[in-house]
Amino acid sequence: MAVKEFKAESKKLLDMMIHSIYSNKEIFLRELISNASDAIDKLYFKSLTDHSVTTKKEDYQILLELDKANRTLTLTDNGIGMTKEELEENLGTIARSGSLDFKKDNKAEDIDIIGQFGVGFYSAFMVASRVTVISRAFGSDTAWQWESTGAEGYTITEADKEDVGTKIIMVIKENAENENYDEFLDEYNLVHIVKKYSDYVRYPIRMEREKTRAKERPADAGEDYKTEYETYTELETLNSMVPLWKRSKSEVTDEEYNQFYKDKFYDFTDPARVIVSRTEGTATYNALLFIPGHAPFNYYSRDYEKGLQLYASGVLIMDKCADLLPDHFSFVKGIVDSQDLSLNISREMLQKDGQLKLIRNSLEKKIKNELNAMKNNDREKYDEFFKSFGRQLKFGCYESYGANSDLLKDLLLFHSAKENKLISLQEYVDKMPEDQKYIYYAAGDSTERLAKLPAAELVLDKGYDLLLLTEDVDEFCLQVLRHYGEKDKEKEFKNISSGDLGLESEEEKKAAEEASEANKDLFEAMKTALDGKVTAVRLSTRLKSHPVCIASEGPLSLEMEKVLNAMPN
Ligand code: ADP
Ligand code: MG
Repeated sequence: MAVKEFKAESKKLLDMMIHSIYSNKEIFLRELISNASDAIDKLYFKSLTDHSVTTKKEDYQILLELDKANRTLTLTDNGIGMTKEELEENLGTIARSGSLDFKKDNKAEDIDIIGQFGVGFYSAFMVASRVTVISRAFGSDTAWQWESTGAEGYTITEADKEDVGTKIIMVIKENAENENYDEFLDEYNLVHIVKKYSDYVRYPIRMEREKTRAKERPADAGEDYKTEYETYTELETLNSMVPLWKRSKSEVTDEEYNQFYKDKFYDFTDPARVIVSRTEGTATYNALLFIPGHAPFNYYSRDYEKGLQLYASGVLIMDKCADLLPDHFSFVKGIVDSQDLSLNISREMLQKDGQLKLIRNSLEKKIKNELNAMKNNDREKYDEFFKSFGRQLKFGCYESYGANSDLLKDLLLFHSAKENKLISLQEYVDKMPEDQKYIYYAAGDSTERLAKLPAAELVLDKGYDLLLLTEDVDEFCLQVLRHYGEKDKEKEFKNISSGDLGLESEEEKKAAEEASEANKDLFEAMKTALDGKVTAVRLSTRLKSHPVCIASEGPLSLEMEKVLNAMPN
């Protein structure tokens, strides 16, 4: 039996495959299962037009068998199989994808075939010292066996196989220094890998698993009978197949969504909101997003990693795809599944392209709309949400220098002095009396103290509301927004501790100026007495029951100066 050699380039490629394309050995299983699923898809697709296909839809399966003693792991599918020629072409030529051809030939873009690069199969050599593929193609009486131990080449011989489909037998490598291969002979680990990457493969992935159960209590068992246990095996389906996000929203209960969220994202409380979205058009994707009920303990630290799980046709590509989420919505958790992503060859990353951006922009709008709806229809919950994540939204405004203002401004809440609760800017503006020119705010440590500021009294006395800002980012955020309100009727934000408050009439202003002029010497003397601690002493029209107040000039308020001074350089 002559050994056929891989072509020279193929040898190098295979070596590269085994050593460098994948960052993680365990993905070999993802690749082989994806191939099996593709093969079943192809047969199923054929069955739609060809009635000689006798396999019933419910009989399709992918079977995983573990033989620890012989160190083998076997994967069998009852898909379309491969002829001798196909074994040569598809497995003998690296970077040749029969699946890609199939998609093209059948214009079957929408049947969701996973393969496209023609390299996935070789990832088996990352963990196996020998790979044997026994396959019988649909419509053929003969089965063929392809076998290889790696870069040296492969053999093809006739083989016995009763049913149509493909069986892949891998002899798992022996442990070596720093390399653990035994883990691929560990039942639990295999189940874990299947669930991690292939949970949403459409066909059942099954494995015979050993279980224990209590034996039936004999009828004549006496008082001191001790329950006896026996082991048995059961064929178990490992994957959940239909992803929750592909089921229609009306079919899924809230409880199911909540449970899914808690299991998947390790949270113990229900999400505040679930967003289910299916979009076709410029960006085709399914998304299932969650707005958590509370901030994770590390949310406002560097340790927190934002991102959504990214699936391509039901197969996990990335666990935390950061590019899918803008920073201001970094608290969102969830999943995106799309069939038209341009994956890189390892299918662990995306080639940078517009697709991801389209999805991200579309998700951003959806998240914003959902938050808005929550704000308008479920205010209590929104307040709760805002306490956890409002800070992030405000940062979003500030850090984008206003670029995200339009997106975020209506999601912001601030403490109203008048109503003693959180209100939106729209709510503030809606309640403004006709003659009010500005949106007033005061910034400081506590709402109680701010409400007692001399100028606060004055503003409130006029019947105007006042926003009490207690977070360091608040005032920066408002400065970036600059104003709020309908176009051409925008109201500027005004800090009550700096500048002209716009409260006095012309006469009042004039009287103040005159009084100022008359007492000039007194103020100079006060300034000198304060010995450089102030830049000026002035007469204020902003005081009612208080004798004196401290104020600042220019765009930075005293509070902002404090924040800036406290920041590390
Ligand atoms: P890809 O899946 O990207 O096409 P692979 O290296 O994983 O690349 O597989 C190469 C080709 O081998 C596939 O395109 C397919 O034609 C064929 N193939 C692999 N596994 C199977 C299988 N289990 N049944 C039928 N054909 C298969
Ligand atoms: Mg493949």
